[in-house]
Amino acid sequence: MITELLSSDPKEKLGFDPDELRAKYLYERDKRLRSEGNAQYLEVANELADYNDDPYTEWVERAPLNDEVQVAIIGGGFGGLLMGGRLREAGFTDLRVIEKAGDFGGTWYWNRYPGAACDVESYCYLPMLEELKYIPKHKYSFAPEIFEHSKAIARHYDLYKNACLQTGVKEMRWDEPSGRWIIQTDRGDTIRAQFVAMANGPLNRPKLPGIPGITKFKGHTFHTSRWDYDYTGGDSTGNMTGLANKRVAIIGTGATAVQCIPHLGASAQHLYVFQRTPSSVDVRANRSTDEAFVNTLEPGWQYRRMDNFNILVSGGDQEEDLVADGWTEIFRNLTGIAAKSAARELGRRLSSKEKGRMMELLDFQKMNQVRARVDEIVTDPATAEALKPWYRQFCKRPCFHDEYLPTFNRPNVTLVDTSGKGVERITERGIVVDGKEYEVDCIIFATGFEVGTSYTRRAGYEIIGRDGLTLTDKWANGWRTLYGLQAHSFPNCFFLGFTQTAISVNVPHALNEQAKHVTYILEQARRRGATRIEATLTAEDMWLREMKSKAKIAERFYAECTPGYYNNEGKLDVTNGFFAGTYGGGPIPFFNLLEEWRATGRLEGVEFQ
Ligand code: NDP
Repeated sequence: MITELLSSDPKEKLGFDPDELRAKYLYERDKRLRSEGNAQYLEVANELADYNDDPYTEWVERAPLNDEVQVAIIGGGFGGLLMGGRLREAGFTDLRVIEKAGDFGGTWYWNRYPGAACDVESYCYLPMLEELKYIPKHKYSFAPEIFEHSKAIARHYDLYKNACLQTGVKEMRWDEPSGRWIIQTDRGDTIRAQFVAMANGPLNRPKLPGIPGITKFKGHTFHTSRWDYDYTGGDSTGNMTGLANKRVAIIGTGATAVQCIPHLGASAQHLYVFQRTPSSVDVRANRSTDEAFVNTLEPGWQYRRMDNFNILVSGGDQEEDLVADGWTEIFRNLTGIAAKSAARELGRRLSSKEKGRMMELLDFQKMNQVRARVDEIVTDPATAEALKPWYRQFCKRPCFHDEYLPTFNRPNVTLVDTSGKGVERITERGIVVDGKEYEVDCIIFATGFEVGTSYTRRAGYEIIGRDGLTLTDKWANGWRTLYGLQAHSFPNCFFLGFTQTAISVNVPHALNEQAKHVTYILEQARRRGATRIEATLTAEDMWLREMKSKAKIAERFYAECTPGYYNNEGKLDVTNGFFAGTYGGGPIPFFNLLEEWRATGRLEGVEFQ
């Protein structure tokens, strides 16, 4: 098999021509490249600000606060929950979570669209299952359960106490004489905090497409992360009776759209799906949690399972694949695991050129299989053709769903493929593509979240560090941090998320490692009586060098991808975009690095005063 792949002309054996496929991928990428890149999207502000309104929780008035806490945690999603939980475990009592939403949950507070579910196995994805003695109901949990679990974590660690919900930070300023951060909020609060952990989330701010006429539409509109159940009726399980007499348009076919389109198709009088780039959609096979499986679980099971998954999806090998799903299958076939078995087969190591070639061919094969699945399921040949993704598997977030493709066989569902160009115009009555107007009653924007805009814009507030330096200026030419978690001139401040840290497919796993690390630093501060902790410039330089040295492979790969948020909408550079803030060495070396740093006890690169 491997020798076939590596032979100079594998066409006949493979059943496809790799050169043709490569050319097709580049053609599809070129069709979609836009000179505006990320600037094609509109900020949800000013006349579009209503798209941000919280449809889920009644506004509760309260008096402004003027007080002090030891640790302020900004954001009550998984990052904030893990941070709060780990700090509580370490005996920190004086905490305050500040959260814009009406409750804890972060992405799972906002994303309540019908069909929303996690697509990383829930036994790995839902944090702190053993701590809370909870077992998810399905292999892939649905959103309401994840939201409930988030609230349960907050209760378990007493994070509701002292929390400021429905509160947006407006500014955070370091006050050198008092050694405190002064946090101003949109409730008129002035909160002083000795330490701040920023857990704003990576994809927290909805974005809208810059389609001409977007404000002209006279019908109803909303973004998927602010689902208007008052209008649609039904709930996260579907049954949207309010749409029975409505012509509905959805713009976007990313991971969100893939989950909600089956429900829209089942409920709407007619559904028009406006597609720019199709997602790759593979088998889901969700199932209820099996009692027999639960009975096998022994203490420590969740972290073992998370590690097992993380190793496999980082290209490492494991004797057993505990999760055994679409993610681990892709990684087994496309990464170092495949190279290892090839080396075994050949009796020698593969050169890096051979490795690259083999992985590309395996990727072609995998995507051929994904495309063949479309043909198997979708009956209309033109629709099937339009639903096929022409790019390498990791150019976009892989999706897994069993009802998405069959939805296009429904007589009341029309795919409007824009051939990579996107929607042409929005009018008072509907949507125009290729000069044809589709009249609709409602437009749903499944157009994702801001990525690649400045950190402070996405956070929604400025952070003013020592000597008046703003974080916007500090990071204007790219990230500068120590391990992504601390920055020089920003003492006692910690960043959780994707600011030069390593991402795992299982994001909460990465957040947990970060929360553990920050907790360790704060424990050290407590033990040493330090009141001020700051990363040095030399340490930042070291991390920047390391980040750059590991960034190259991903850059080459993403340059050849169809545009999307993974590659900064086709304008890849080292300072912007999702992966610009990601450690190319991968999560395992990164977690090890943090652990080793802690184990030395030397606290290298961090000044304690
Ligand atoms: P995405 O950014 O992935 O998708 C946005 C969609 O809008 C794309 O299909 C994009 O097309 C399309 N689009 C943008 N502009 C236009 C336009 N002018 N005309 C037509 N179409 C347009 O956002 P999602 O909300 O789908 O997903 C965001 C992320 O959230 C995911 O990648 C995933 O990480 C996470 N997520 C996770 C889930 C889970 O765990 N189960 C579920 C849902 C989301 P194009 O591709 O051409 O840019």
